[in-house]
Amino acid sequence: MFEDLIKEMNRLNGQSVSVPIETDEKGYIDKQCPAEDCEFIFKVHEEDWTNIFKDEAVWCPLCRHEAPADQWFTIEQVEHVKTEALAIVKGKIDNAIRSDAQKFNQRQTRNSFISMSMTVKGGINRTFAIPAKAAELMRLEIQCEKCHARFAVIGSAYFCPACGHNSVTQTFADSLRKIKAKKDSIEIVRNALTESMSKDEAELTCRSLLETCISDGVVAFQKYCEGMYARFGTAPFNAFQRLEQGNNIWFEALQKGYSDWLTNDELVELKILFQKRHILAHNEGIVDSQYITKSGDISYKEGQRIVVSEKNIDALISSLEKLGSGIKAACDNA
Ligand SMILES: [Zn+2]
Ligand SMILES: [Zn+2]
Repeated sequence: MFEDLIKEMNRLNGQSVSVPIETDEKGYIDKQCPAEDCEFIFKVHEEDWTNIFKDEAVWCPLCRHEAPADQWFTIEQVEHVKTEALAIVKGKIDNAIRSDAQKFNQRQTRNSFISMSMTVKGGINRTFAIPAKAAELMRLEIQCEKCHARFAVIGSAYFCPACGHNSVTQTFADSLRKIKAKKDSIEIVRNALTESMSKDEAELTCRSLLETCISDGVVAFQKYCEGMYARFGTAPFNAFQRLEQGNNIWFEALQKGYSDWLTNDELVELKILFQKRHILAHNEGIVDSQYITKSGDISYKEGQRIVVSEKNIDALISSLEKLGSGIKAACDNA
């Protein structure tokens, strides 16, 4: 009497249940790094996942862990698939039992001495899977400059998941964003520290935070230039820490220099800021004659300590951004 059930069980044996995964409104699907100490969640564009990504290897945008393409389901998707697979198998079995019961009941005649009937509770069960829902949209959408795969993350990303390429421009933009965030949070830090420590200590900490923004910016720019220059060769050690030397190197490679991308005023200020970084790193911020000659900054006398203002940081970020995009455009055309 359980023919349909037996048939269904035979059908289910070794069968796979496929559960669709939805894309978000922008056509991205969720992925998650399988490395246990990372588990970074990101999104990849579905078209690119099919056309650009390779089965053999996918890279984590954050930690560059490498694993075959079938290992990047999110924990949430895996849980959903398990629940759905179970629901479908259960549904199919229930439906088979229901159909067996129906046949059994039909076979009973009214005149029998004892009448038996079988009831299976509940309606017909669904035998299709509900797709795994996409997580909400991610803010930062990136397209790899090398393989053109599109992906999206929250926070920051350093590597393309489709080809593992470390994007120099992406890292640079990211560093500048971080410096901005640091500068913008100084007021909050000052207030918090004034409450918990003394006003003096709060002031000291905030000043040093602001000063680190300058060296962060210079280092980020140096790394960016080194990365972008790689296609032309290797620049001398620390060359891009020095504005003039860096400018000459670019001029030779691109026939364009910093004055093509910055106004004279911006260039003058940037020169001062690069010298401020130098004096902070090598002379604890105390002005010497070399500083005055090299920066052209006559607002200080020898022996004074330089001051870094929030305006300085704004100017630094703005100029570095302009130089960055100028260099990129020129390199792309070279
Ligand atoms: Zn990772
Ligand atoms: Zn790529």
